[in-house]
Amino acid sequence: MSQRYVFNPPSVVSVPVVGTDEHLPVHRIYCVGRNYAEHAKEMGFSGREDPFFFIKPNDTLVVCGEQAPAAIDYPPLTQNLHHEVELVVAIGLGGQNITAAQAPQHIFGYAVGLDMTRRDLQNQMKQQGRPWCIGKSHEQSSPVGWVTPAAQVPGIEQAAITLSVNGQVRQNSHLHQLIWRIGEIIEHLSRAWTLQAGDLIFTGTPEGVAPVVRGDHLQARVDGLTGLDLRIS
Ligand code: MN
Repeated sequence: MSQRYVFNPPSVVSVPVVGTDEHLPVHRIYCVGRNYAEHAKEMGFSGREDPFFFIKPNDTLVVCGEQAPAAIDYPPLTQNLHHEVELVVAIGLGGQNITAAQAPQHIFGYAVGLDMTRRDLQNQMKQQGRPWCIGKSHEQSSPVGWVTPAAQVPGIEQAAITLSVNGQVRQNSHLHQLIWRIGEIIEHLSRAWTLQAGDLIFTGTPEGVAPVVRGDHLQARVDGLTGLDLRIS
């Protein structure tokens, strides 16, 4: 006899996989802080430090196709909602204490993501030494494009990463600028947490983060991956 619940449990959060009719079910969303030197500098830091992580609930995810742009609502309490374009790594095989050399066999694929940030609230929390949750983990704060299997993008760490707002380029960098590379991120993360299939890792944003307003049209791109188109409503 199946378990009966007092209300219907939430449905599985998932992202479509490019070239298939399947979806990747999403477990956790991990994010890396300050992983590009020029972004660390624009946030007031030196650019050299060990990687650090925060987690967003998986129900903050919004799937955004290139053909079918999604919309998110401008969130409450902020006057300074920022875009952060990021490469997202999708874990296909979990584990603990994964080395950088072993990391490729744990990766299912890649997507483009936006770590939308209520910067004013994040800065207030930083100044008070409090957690960033209210700046980072609000509803619809994790738009993500479709996942491309890793085998289809072997040169991903050399790809360009860009974010345009209303056709104007705001962020423009290359993944070879990552301070901590994909394998190193997985090595550090899997020492602290047991990674599971379906975990997504937002790998950090390059310089050029800036505010958006209602009506803006965002286009996030990483060469070789399906793009992410998003409107702020
Ligand atoms: Mn970020």
